[in-house]
Amino acid sequence: MWSPCSSQSLNRLSSHDRESSFFSTDLLFLRTEPQVSEQSLESQLMAQTTPNHTQTVSGWAVLNSSGKAVPHTFKRRENGVDDVTIEIMYCGICHTDLHFARNDWGITMYPVVPGHEITGIITKVGSNVNKFRLGDRVGVGCLAASCLECDFCKSSRENYCDQIQLTYNGIFWDGSITYGGYSKFMVADHRYVVRIPENLPMDATAPLLCAGITVFSPFKDSNLVDSPGKKVGVVGLGGLGHLAVKFGKAFGHHVTVISTSPFKEKEARERLGADAFIVSTNARELQAARRTLDFIVDTVSAKHSLGPILELLTVNGTLAVVCAPDQPMELPAFPLIFGKRSIRGSMTGSTSETQEMLDVCSKHNITCDIELVKTDNINEAWDRLARNDVRYRFVIDIAGKSSNL
Ligand code: NAP
Ligand code: ZN
Repeated sequence: MWSPCSSQSLNRLSSHDRESSFFSTDLLFLRTEPQVSEQSLESQLMAQTTPNHTQTVSGWAVLNSSGKAVPHTFKRRENGVDDVTIEIMYCGICHTDLHFARNDWGITMYPVVPGHEITGIITKVGSNVNKFRLGDRVGVGCLAASCLECDFCKSSRENYCDQIQLTYNGIFWDGSITYGGYSKFMVADHRYVVRIPENLPMDATAPLLCAGITVFSPFKDSNLVDSPGKKVGVVGLGGLGHLAVKFGKAFGHHVTVISTSPFKEKEARERLGADAFIVSTNARELQAARRTLDFIVDTVSAKHSLGPILELLTVNGTLAVVCAPDQPMELPAFPLIFGKRSIRGSMTGSTSETQEMLDVCSKHNITCDIELVKTDNINEAWDRLARNDVRYRFVIDIAGKSSNL
């Protein structure tokens, strides 16, 4: 769908090793060959290391590289002193769930229970936890554990801890594999749990826990939250992208959407408030917008060239890459060097930053545009997401009457 301008694609990067892609902790290296034959060994190891995983949970999992979600029963740990147990109400469907389900990055440990855009109600509180009480409305995003000791952990930037473990497909401190929010309840360490502000609905807030914080964080890094009047670009109008547009407008910027989908223009302008819309397959439109944007966030889930995007930036402009296609993206040198432009990555956000983002959303009344789906329709929603047929986030109704969990 992305159509790079070939004359600008001067330098195609050679293929990376898997280890240079999305995640790179030692533990993840151990997990790069998730063969079915290893599962029984893995289960035995888990059985040895996690005797307190006594709670049976129903959920949905992908069991193998078929990429299909099926009903699945599994175990979670008992609620520890630092834990809270959360009755899950809603879970957003992130494109990352699709990448993991289909083993796009070669690091999936089947069975995988996806879901890291979770909202729910606290039903148990560990004795060390002062921050939360029974009945609190809370959320869990991408993070399940980190080392707690490094500079990043100590300065509330634990999302960059070298030992970071994710809400699903991670390895928790007790050696168990983490399972995500496509399930009835979860046990989470309170240090990775946030409070949902009272004025935000639980369903349309769920995707803020990943999609929201992932685009908020680069806005903050580039000092765009409190200094209005910049020209901001958003590439890819999906789950992350539509929230980036909402943040950009709420923070007082001129927002341009760069999209492969001309049919999204009306909505982008009228519903989301975008000021301009560029069809990225239209060379004339790209040319007309050269050197106009101060900052761009790239959310495109598939392989594409960064060259045409960089050309849209002013001299010294910044491109924040948050997307994680399974193939290396093309990075021609000329648009970088002629415009003295910078590219920076960004990996979700820390727990405190996520709380800050939710409070900002509460103030500006920002939530996601969602389509609620039943648990039985997860595969259909995934197929539609893969076909770019969603406005703009599917959210699974985990606790509703139609749920079979
Ligand atoms: P999404 O809802 O599917 O949106 C992606 C958008 O990319 C689509 O709406 C579409 O926008 C564009 N697109 C899709 N396929 C394309 C293709 N073949 N060529 C060109 N454009 C295409 O996905 P998402 O949930 O927002 O996630 C986006 C990416 O961010 C994923 O790779 C995900 O894994 C990653 N992610 C990273 C982090 C992080 O921490 N860095 C966190 C969450 C997600 P248009 O129709 O407008 O072109
Ligand atoms: Zn996500």
